[in-house]
Amino acid sequence: MRPALLDPVFAEASSLPGIGPKVEKLIARVTGVAEGPPLIRDLLFHLPSSAIVRERIESLSELPESGHVIFEGVVEHHEAPRRNSRAPFRAVIGDGTETVELVFFHARSSWIEKILPIGERRLVAGRLDRFDYRAQIAHPDFIGKPDEAGEILAVEPVYPLTEGLAQRTLAKAIRAALEKLPELPEWVTPALLAREKWPGFRDALMALHMPQEGAALVPESPAWRRLAFDELLASQLALLLVRGKARKTAGKARQFTGGQAEKMVSRLGFELTGSQKQAIEAIRTDLRSPERMLRLLQGDVGSGKTLVALSAMADVTEDGGQAALMAPTEVLARQHFATIAPLAATAGLKAELFTGREGGGNAKLAALAAGEIDIAIGTHALFQEAVRFKDLALVVVDEQHRFGVHQRMLLAAKGAAPDLLVMTATPIPRTLVLTYFGDMAVSELREKPAGRRPIETRIASSERLAEVVERIRAAVEKGEKVYWICPLVEESESTDAAAAEERHRELSAIFGEKALLLHGRMKPAEKDAAMAAFRAAAGAVLVATTVIEVGVDVPDASIIVIEHAERFGLAQLHQLRGRVGRGEKASSCLLLYKPPLGETARARLKVMRDTNDGFAIAEADLKLRGEGDLLGTRQSGMPGFSIARPEFHGELLELARAEAKLILAHLEKDGGGAPEAVRALLYLFGRDAAVRLMRSG
Ligand code: ADP
Ligand code: MG
Repeated sequence: MRPALLDPVFAEASSLPGIGPKVEKLIARVTGVAEGPPLIRDLLFHLPSSAIVRERIESLSELPESGHVIFEGVVEHHEAPRRNSRAPFRAVIGDGTETVELVFFHARSSWIEKILPIGERRLVAGRLDRFDYRAQIAHPDFIGKPDEAGEILAVEPVYPLTEGLAQRTLAKAIRAALEKLPELPEWVTPALLAREKWPGFRDALMALHMPQEGAALVPESPAWRRLAFDELLASQLALLLVRGKARKTAGKARQFTGGQAEKMVSRLGFELTGSQKQAIEAIRTDLRSPERMLRLLQGDVGSGKTLVALSAMADVTEDGGQAALMAPTEVLARQHFATIAPLAATAGLKAELFTGREGGGNAKLAALAAGEIDIAIGTHALFQEAVRFKDLALVVVDEQHRFGVHQRMLLAAKGAAPDLLVMTATPIPRTLVLTYFGDMAVSELREKPAGRRPIETRIASSERLAEVVERIRAAVEKGEKVYWICPLVEESESTDAAAAEERHRELSAIFGEKALLLHGRMKPAEKDAAMAAFRAAAGAVLVATTVIEVGVDVPDASIIVIEHAERFGLAQLHQLRGRVGRGEKASSCLLLYKPPLGETARARLKVMRDTNDGFAIAEADLKLRGEGDLLGTRQSGMPGFSIARPEFHGELLELARAEAKLILAHLEKDGGGAPEAVRALLYLFGRDAAVRLMRSG
């Protein structure tokens, strides 16, 4: 149950004065509320993006050149525009030392004569500018009698808006919302509060919405950090509660020497990298422990994740267990099978492929159920009903971002709490790993295998297509293999395929048989044939849609051309580029864009040109997207978060996780329900589903 003391905060925003149905809708939009009416809570969490700081001027002779000012003066005269003139109304106000022109466009004279009567003393606040050396304020923020000074904020918060919503309306609503905010019990432990010098929750919100100085309104301020921490703490508590449930189904302690894996590795023509070895050892420790393994293996494209997975799969087979490797596409599943099956065979292990094409009902399924197959490699076909294992010990999921949590769960349900290894090449910044995967252990492959050369990336306009084709022709003649990625027209396989077919036709006129085609609409056998031809060719162009984005490994491909690069996400471009630079050849990537190129798009392509480091790219992407703040959208770069921002508060995540563990340990020890403070926290940040997982919500 929601603690009663939160009731005022969970009242609808429309219960505040001045919020009718129209404003309510705008508030829902600006605060990002998708379902149901916006609440007072949502207003409270809508933080200002900056503040206006007003300088109090005692004598007009000391007026600054420009800036926000407050001053008093006597209205000296009016200059009304001539009839039908577009000129503004001017009122001149002064204090004997200097004068300021107050300028009003489209204003009625009668109104100005009323608020600025000649000869009267008035208090004015607004943004001062100079025009022909004259001090001017266009449309002052405030005009009142000298005794109304209390109504002007020396520091006024400025809120992100949405079309149709006025700053004044939103500010007033938020002011009213603040008055409903009660003092809440503290959920942060006193030691942490003292160490970080954080204000309480209520004081923190007050400090941001009613700043005393402009400098306080930055994500690094103690108040903002405190609230970001609260939000992260709520999400970590929720994740731990969910995971706690998953872990209660204990895993099995596997026994093995690692000999099988070593046998396979010794057949490779190369040494494992240091980080591959480290990851393999970390996984071994997990497999041997009775706790269920939940590990994320993160490694930039080409860092050699497949071998780490293979080693783990070989390990569990020593103990009679089976392993499953799930890939997001059939092309990739086949490629894994082609790499793994021969290596596995050298250690006497049997690997088999399970894709939609093989289907159920054949001898393979029987062999799998009987435990005669050690390693099952496949697509989502692996979690069809008919697929049964004898003892599924390890599930490896490759390229995690293509699968949802749901699919992972389905596969994991096929064994008795099998250990789980999730591999991702989409570099998820450290700061986000915890938010998405909770307390999953993380292994990182930061090193690239020896001998790799950086990929040289260039950017060019698609108007130079003919030139590009000419250069590619020369390269193919020399025996180079080229990927040619076609524009992503829409989020639709068929239109993408059409674009690729079109380009393939054109390139076929130049390259003949050496122009190959690969897209998602082709029959599986045709895809295989195209990939096989590309692998075997001495010089070829593979025209493809993004089906090759994930994991395709043709080590001697050395050039990649990406059309309409401006339409791809940075992570996706990085994935695509990672298809080359896998061998020892010098490789290049050509990003073609269709002009005109916007500022953000240009910045994004520059990032690609300037670095090959997937982690740096992911961080840059986050920043660029964070700053590309569209009117009316949330500024937060983290989905599901309204206050915490990964680029500023990332380091608080570890702290939040530790604190969440501490809190849960306390709850366990006391054996009771969660104290009111913790429940309040979870409700405030919309993590209340987790409350039900606590013993007495
Ligand atoms: P990814 O991490 O992108 O999945 P892969 O596992 O496909 O990378 O490996 C990329 C390529 O690097 C493969 O051709 C693989 O055989 C090779 N490779 C993996 N580890 C090493 C290593 N330690 N030294 C040299 N080459 C390696
Ligand atoms: Mg891979």
